[in-house]
Amino acid sequence: MISVDEALQNLFDLAPDLAVEHVPLARAGGRILAQPCHARRMQPPFAASAMDGYALDAGAAQTGASFEVIGEAAAGHAFDGTVGPGQAVRIFTGAPVPEGASMVVLQEDCQRDGARMTITGTPDGASNIRPAGSDFQLGDSLPAPRRLSPMDVALLAAMNIAQVPVARRPVVALISTGDELVMPGETPGPDQIIASNTFGLAAMLQTYGAETRILPIARDNLEALQLAFSLAQGADVIVTIGGASVGDHDLVAKAGAALGVRQSFYKVSMRPGKPLMAGRLGQSVVLGLPGNPVSAMVCGYVFLLPMLRKMAGLPAAHGPTRRAPLLAPLGANGARTHYMRAHVTPEGITAFARQDSALLRVLAEANALVIRPIGDPPRAVGEMVEYMPFESE
Ligand code: AMP
Ligand code: MG
Repeated sequence: MISVDEALQNLFDLAPDLAVEHVPLARAGGRILAQPCHARRMQPPFAASAMDGYALDAGAAQTGASFEVIGEAAAGHAFDGTVGPGQAVRIFTGAPVPEGASMVVLQEDCQRDGARMTITGTPDGASNIRPAGSDFQLGDSLPAPRRLSPMDVALLAAMNIAQVPVARRPVVALISTGDELVMPGETPGPDQIIASNTFGLAAMLQTYGAETRILPIARDNLEALQLAFSLAQGADVIVTIGGASVGDHDLVAKAGAALGVRQSFYKVSMRPGKPLMAGRLGQSVVLGLPGNPVSAMVCGYVFLLPMLRKMAGLPAAHGPTRRAPLLAPLGANGARTHYMRAHVTPEGITAFARQDSALLRVLAEANALVIRPIGDPPRAVGEMVEYMPFESE
């Protein structure tokens, strides 16, 4: 049995890099930027007023000083002339500051009377001008790789980058296996249950930005499994669910081997999720997840998402973790890394008492997994533990 870190490293080695594609800016949010983007202009492209007021020579901005208002500058409508001594231009936020002006006096500090304006307040010395290029210069870059936030997209737009180079979305095929499974909405027989983690994983993957293909449930026989594998061809990742432990009905490894899956590892020293299998079939990575709902979902967070991040060009690393104080004590951990369903609040974290890997309701109440290292001793209230939050992908 290999460790979680070794298994993850193995998956990183198996995972192919996703090609780069260009998408319109309006669809770039959440995608992984594949190459640095360079500003195609500077911002602002001219010295711009930061306020509504009057543009004039800073040297003349004294309380009581009076000016002739010679014109107006608004956003998108520059004033073409020059501001001379004793003159001012009515100006609005975002307008180019006219030649000859070196400050904008706030309109609250001015009194207007026809063509004349008098400074009635006391200007605080601020120029209220955004110098040209003070946001970014021509050629300034947004570095890659990075997941594009809404703020990044706004920046790219301002840089006039209409087509954004991003990693192609990974295609992930999901194969559920088992004679006992039916699809949600169907009527199960007396000895059947609903395929649940298939849909949980699909939701997880969609949130991440993957393209998912839910294939028909494969029954527990070689022909059905081989058919499922053949339907999954072309996917970047083929995820099988269930049938991964060694039992009469666990045929996934056998079916995969017959089709040429080169197995890279089988079994990881963790709880839940021990019977995890990985390999390659042609261009696809095959990831065999355990069937137990909680195991499948936990393995999705611990292995599948980090692998997809690496495929998209992000650093090869396990999912982000944080630390929090325990609100309830924990017993000693055994010989496997334990991912315990837990609830974290600003005060601290509590691992649930029930950790059976079949319990989906406990999982749905959890918002984090406490990570217990191998051989971790008992932990008291207040001790800091490492955890993986669910909300961060
Ligand atoms: P297996 O690995 O096939 O032995 O499955 C382990 C347990 O997980 C069994 O109780 C299965 O019924 C259950 N299981 C397998 N696949 C799924 C699935 N897609 N959704 C819900 N439960 C499943
Ligand atoms: Mg099964």
